[in-house]
Amino acid sequence: MRKTSVYIETLGCQMNVSDSERAASTLCKNGFKLAPSTDSADVVIINTCSVREKAERKALRRVEEIARSRGAEAPLIGLMGCVAQLEGEALFDYAPSVGFVAGTGATERIPQLIRKAVAGKTFDLGERRSPFEGDLEPAFRHSARVAFVPIIEGCNKFCTYCIVPYSRGRERSRAATEILREVRSLLAQGFKEIHLIGQNVNSYRPKYDGGPEKFPGATPFSRLLRAVASTGMPRIKFTTSFPRDFHADIVKAIDENENLCNWVHLPVQSGSDRVLRAMRRGYKVVDFIRHVEAIKGARRRISLTSDIIVGFPGETREEFEDTRRLVERCGFEGLYIFKYSARRGTPAAKLADTVEESEKTDRFQSLEKLQASAQQKIYTDFLGAEVLVLAEGLSARSADDLTGHTTCNKVVNFRGGRDMVGKIVRVRVDELKSHSLYGEALGVL
Ligand code: SAM
Ligand code: SF4
Repeated sequence: MRKTSVYIETLGCQMNVSDSERAASTLCKNGFKLAPSTDSADVVIINTCSVREKAERKALRRVEEIARSRGAEAPLIGLMGCVAQLEGEALFDYAPSVGFVAGTGATERIPQLIRKAVAGKTFDLGERRSPFEGDLEPAFRHSARVAFVPIIEGCNKFCTYCIVPYSRGRERSRAATEILREVRSLLAQGFKEIHLIGQNVNSYRPKYDGGPEKFPGATPFSRLLRAVASTGMPRIKFTTSFPRDFHADIVKAIDENENLCNWVHLPVQSGSDRVLRAMRRGYKVVDFIRHVEAIKGARRRISLTSDIIVGFPGETREEFEDTRRLVERCGFEGLYIFKYSARRGTPAAKLADTVEESEKTDRFQSLEKLQASAQQKIYTDFLGAEVLVLAEGLSARSADDLTGHTTCNKVVNFRGGRDMVGKIVRVRVDELKSHSLYGEALGVL
């Protein structure tokens, strides 16, 4: 019997990428096969993001684009992920081409949903039966070299602007023994780099704190970091860290373990105490600076990156200037800047969105310019230097180049042989781009 083919298109964060990997695996175990594109698939699933309105609109636009492009041959279209969880059944009205809706807890039940959807529109907003259940074969991972390992899902912080606690539910930490088992299995499969992922990885707090007992650490997360480092996985990254739960022991663990990569992503959101309070972030600017100093004081150079929201309701020009000053002071090696987007159901959405769109754009551009010049100065240090790059594949820009990341998570494109793909390569940097480095391979490690 011909197998039904499914194409999954993923929007949003690493957690969505990870869920799509699990959805693909579950589908194949249940008699479906994966399609190479939307053009030939019997079923198309869009894994959606709801963090900003723009991302939400993009998902609905994709549904209509796919339905229109296939005309009479239109596939069965399903939505999964955050928009699916939040909007549920209402999506059948917003996007009539949608045939099924799978919430953030329904990933493992998508095969059953597809079968039901053949008879009529259906949805599942139920909870995950067992968080992160099942083994994932390497073929379903988004990369053959870098693997995402979820360690915590959901969020308890309820920042006033953010939809995540509603779309992903409360924090649930995965058992350390289970994480360690997955990391060891990834190592045996030849993976060279893993990313421990979660909305706030350093809020990691499993119900039973067993597994890393023999490892020291001031928090369950720093114990987990040391335990994961002991597996011998060559490169371990983790994202995202939440400032209020950031403990200096994380920096100590990085200093002690070469394979814990020298990169911390610590979103500050604003440089104004009043705005941070209105956002309900739970820390002040001085607290954040203390973390930055701990990170900058490490024995190894740790790259620090962050997120900023401009134009939060009521943010004055002076408060925005405070953010500029903080950005100048912190020396972020990368910065994601977002214009505030009101999300229905969040406390901030009830505040008047006082900052005009043109003013938000102005603040966005001003910060972007500031960061670009600060970043170029930081990048100058890399000119002529030798960096270690995990060659992840061929560069999309040039067939002669390879691409990968440094341990500090900088993108590096470089001239090198195809046989280097999958290996850790010594690269001499000879050119700086705005968000990446360019160089030449010197040899394989
Ligand atoms: N949990 C992480 C933290 O709080 O540090 C961040 C996770 S969040 C999904 C990713 C980023 O999206 C946030 O750091 C924030 O800058 C941005 N973001 C979240 N809600 C937003 C909103 N309503 N408008 C604009 N940006 C938003
Ligand atoms: Fe959203 Fe705040 Fe949770 Fe981050 S910590 S996911 S910004 S609610």
